[in-house]
Amino acid sequence: MRRNITPERLWQEMGILSPDDVDIEVMAYFCGVRVKYRELTSCAARIVGKGNKAIITVDQDASIERQRFSIAHELGHWAQDHGQVSVSCRSKDLTPFKLKDYKGDREAAANRFAVELLMPTYLFKEAARGMAATMANASALGRQFRVSLTAAAIRLVELGSFPAIVVCSNNGGYRWSWRHPDIPLSIRVNRLIGRNSVAHSLRVDASIASPGPTTVDADEWVNHAGVEHYVVVEDSVRVGRGSVLSLVWWEDETALIRSELDEN
Ligand SMILES: [Zn+2]
Repeated sequence: MRRNITPERLWQEMGILSPDDVDIEVMAYFCGVRVKYRELTSCAARIVGKGNKAIITVDQDASIERQRFSIAHELGHWAQDHGQVSVSCRSKDLTPFKLKDYKGDREAAANRFAVELLMPTYLFKEAARGMAATMANASALGRQFRVSLTAAAIRLVELGSFPAIVVCSNNGGYRWSWRHPDIPLSIRVNRLIGRNSVAHSLRVDASIASPGPTTVDADEWVNHAGVEHYVVVEDSVRVGRGSVLSLVWWEDETALIRSELDEN
């Protein structure tokens, strides 16, 4: 693989037109990389490469979505460090929400490569056009692009038509969030998610099923001047290990526009 090749160039050079045609192992092969499935204990995935050949090893026990994301992530390392690479990646590095490349963070850069490889911007935007930021829609996009619900939800928020935030929380409260570019930075996500949110009830009572999109007071989720005067829509689901994934969006965007005007 040539140094600094982009995911979009890879799609073009391989002549791939739709997510149905993405065989990640064939893509790896195209880049001179063979994929092995093994029991891994010291790391979640790794790549060792020299010259123009490399071998990626992924955890044989991981889900297919996880294996695909891991292979795409390791190809990201290969694109950056072609010629000589030996990287072992931990589970906490292989996450679609860790995408911001602060100070040359190689793991974040590899995650960004993986997200773009599995869900290219131009195709995902087209697929998500006009879709509300619901879990049902994120789930359908996840099936279409064969990625996890979390990865699809992040991409739906990042590239979707409507302003929304995706938030992951657990018993300790806020873990991470990702926002649509139109949401002003003055709107901050609460570090303690409100007790009247659906996410809170899903965390404290295991017998409750996800109710789907639900209208809640905006201050259950966010904090900014005037937040007490309006509502947002929340769609929350459990995603394992005590975590809840929530999509929060604004049916009435007036509050967002006011915040943006206040900022400028
Ligand atoms: Zn890595």
